[in-house]
Amino acid sequence: MLANRIKAIPPSPTLTITAKAKAMRAAGEDVLSLAAGEPDFDAPEHVKEAAIKAIKEGFNKYTPVGGIPELKEAIVNFVKREYGLGYDPEEVLVCCGGKQALYNLFQVILNPGDEVIIPAPYWVSYPPIVLLAGGKPVIIETKEEESFKLNPQDLEAHITPWTKALILNSPSNPTGSVYTKEELEAIAHILKGKNIWIVSDDVYHKIILKDEIKWMCIASIDEEIRKRTFIVNALSKTYSLTGWRIGYLIGSKEVIKAATRLQSQSTSNPNSIAQKGAVAALNGPQEFLQTWVDAFKRRANRLMEMLIEIPNLSCFEPQGAFYAFPNISAYFNKTITDSVKMAEYLLEEAKVAVVPGAAFGKEGFIRISFATSLEVIEKACQRLKKALEKLK
Ligand code: GLU
Repeated sequence: MLANRIKAIPPSPTLTITAKAKAMRAAGEDVLSLAAGEPDFDAPEHVKEAAIKAIKEGFNKYTPVGGIPELKEAIVNFVKREYGLGYDPEEVLVCCGGKQALYNLFQVILNPGDEVIIPAPYWVSYPPIVLLAGGKPVIIETKEEESFKLNPQDLEAHITPWTKALILNSPSNPTGSVYTKEELEAIAHILKGKNIWIVSDDVYHKIILKDEIKWMCIASIDEEIRKRTFIVNALSKTYSLTGWRIGYLIGSKEVIKAATRLQSQSTSNPNSIAQKGAVAALNGPQEFLQTWVDAFKRRANRLMEMLIEIPNLSCFEPQGAFYAFPNISAYFNKTITDSVKMAEYLLEEAKVAVVPGAAFGKEGFIRISFATSLEVIEKACQRLKKALEKLK
């Protein structure tokens, strides 16, 4: 009854588990959710006001498919400030979230059998989005002891005549690792002179947890790399606007034009009211973002302090984003044989929702989101410790 294309596509595990935890809580269960990949802060007041004003002024009609000119301009200015890179509004497409930016991009650049290199652990939606575009995800395993970063030799070994693109995500969801300038240069070196697109998913770029780390996008390496890079970013994580669904794609004019054509035949423009709010977010005050990042830093520190108290559990210290990705494989036993069963056990036994590593292409791990209060983090860690002790 269903098309083959959808048969191999699972529902997004991050969204599914988050919804399950919410439903359990609504049913009166004392569930603590460390699953949700969204900031818990309220949207900034001036952003809400801009959206309310847009509603009151009757900004209700279709907008240009690729976004209103003032939003494209605000994005161009934001990227100039943040990345130090100049783009033309014609190189920008505003989409319904970063997810649609990726979806549009792969739909317009992939032919059947084209390969897309995806370092694992990866964000859950990369392989399905590539598959839906007829492409073939080529997964490269990264190692915990190499901070879960793509090793240039491994990259080189996986390039074939069919390689069409590489996805980089820094800071990474789910590991929190952030590529340094030198590491990006080494990756760029392998890609030089090759006809391979780079897709840089930068949705967590404002959430850097260590003062000594300076975030950089691979597009900044040089002009050749910039021309072959697509920037994917969104307002969701930076401005706590996940539900408003405003993301964007920046890169080659020709591809942006094709992606805009595709969007005109699918969702049309992103929500008009959300676009007005997005303009206010990008052009308005930015100082409050530091207080949010400071809160994430405190939460990350507390979480790490509590996680290392759990025997036989190791965890890479996140450098960006709001996730920790501990290795819990020491607690596997005859019945709890993988991360999915472990996440089920933790939800049942500890009433703590986490996402299994398998969803990110990495068995033996779980993803913990610390986009929640210190109180919830502390309580959840105590419960996790107790539940894991029972497995000894
Ligand atoms: N990106 C977030 C996460 O990984 C939101 C949910 C999703 O779209 O995957 O949890």
